[in-house]
Amino acid sequence: MDLRLYDTLTKEKRRFTPLDPNNVRMYVCGPTVYDFAHIGNARPVIVFDVLFRLLRHLYGADHVTYVRNITDVDDKINARAARDFPGLPLNEAIRKVTENTAAQFASEVAALGSLPPTFEPRATDFVLPRADGKADMVTLIKQLIARGHAYEAGGEVLFDVQSMPDYGALSGRKLDEQRPGARVAVDAHKKSPLDFVLWKQSSGDEPGWESPWGRGRPGWHIECSAMSTAYLGDVFDIHGGGIDLIFPHHENELAQSRCAHGTPAMANYWMHNEFVQIEDTKMSKSLGNFVTIRDLLADWPGEVLRLNMLKAHYRSPMDWTLRGLEESAKTLDDWYSVAADVKGGQASDAVIETLSDDLNTPQMIASLHGLRNGAAAGNDGDRSQFAASLRLFGFLSESVAEWKSRKQQASGVDAKQIDELISSRTAARARKDFKESDRIRDELAAMGVVIKDSKEGTTWEIAR
Ligand SMILES: [Zn+2]
Repeated sequence: MDLRLYDTLTKEKRRFTPLDPNNVRMYVCGPTVYDFAHIGNARPVIVFDVLFRLLRHLYGADHVTYVRNITDVDDKINARAARDFPGLPLNEAIRKVTENTAAQFASEVAALGSLPPTFEPRATDFVLPRADGKADMVTLIKQLIARGHAYEAGGEVLFDVQSMPDYGALSGRKLDEQRPGARVAVDAHKKSPLDFVLWKQSSGDEPGWESPWGRGRPGWHIECSAMSTAYLGDVFDIHGGGIDLIFPHHENELAQSRCAHGTPAMANYWMHNEFVQIEDTKMSKSLGNFVTIRDLLADWPGEVLRLNMLKAHYRSPMDWTLRGLEESAKTLDDWYSVAADVKGGQASDAVIETLSDDLNTPQMIASLHGLRNGAAAGNDGDRSQFAASLRLFGFLSESVAEWKSRKQQASGVDAKQIDELISSRTAARARKDFKESDRIRDELAAMGVVIKDSKEGTTWEIAR
């Protein structure tokens, strides 16, 4: 079966031909670990997990290498560490922030039915030359300087975009179109305003590594060039991520890797998923548009979020609504009742074919509905293909009984009702009616809702 993928660089859907069918290689940019992940961050996780599973099906599970990095060096992490752990030395505080956040992310990804990638490297392990000889950031930067693609200025090492004649090809930006009218004084040391940081100096209280350019830390883009080279080689098959990463992150990764290695490409297929738009104000609670995966997992089984995400094609914006989630939950109830107890079987060719057309997940779901109807009408072949296809792509991970209890645990909770109860309790406490406030707290506890009081107010979550 032919797999066809849309490539952002050539702007066409092309037949996928791996460099080595015995080792199909894919890199996807992972999270910067300083805060709970937004539901928008779940989209690349789910989309590229479906592609990972499809590649494993087509080429064999042992013939696909999937790398998704963890960014654990970043100024946002430093700021968060200082804020959350003011009593600790910064390096210890940073480790707490990154370890907690990475563990949280790993558990959310698993709950969304996604397989762990083959390798999940952390940026901080790839700053300095390594004992195992795998690629590292400092060596890559040295190579870029030696080849005339980078220079030192103003305490930084910068990539020289004018040294690369086709810089900007991925995002469609041309160098001469990008002269901003007013150049910021801060950028005066740059040869071109688009030159970007490979290395910057760290002050004493910032995380830093000793390098040929003094104690400092890497820029964001160089870490992905180092970690992809380390595990996938100078050129590999697929590079993925969210559409917001095309510029500057992927443009700059591509420039660094090609110029450091002297290769015509970094990856042969560049894939980008579109945004998730939160349209439903009810769902965004008090946090504006910031809906975390964690919040959603408190209310819905992970498979509901997974199916809901796949209802839109990855290259279309996704409208994330409560109604959509309710429909996805209903669909899964039905699928579980039809297929959960079927074991074994082969995935349907029709399902594989829809996904092989640039991951056409809406069409895949239509195909699944067709099999479901055949199964419900008594066709055992359809029933077995239906169950096997669902399992292959991360559904039906539980028995019907487990599914039902999870649904009961997760749903049946009315956020509005909870918010109203919490308001009544706050009012009762304000008038010192503690009998009433305790009664409401017990009522919430009986609903499985745990509340936490703090200076900022009362928050709640579903007990697990
Ligand atoms: Zn990256």
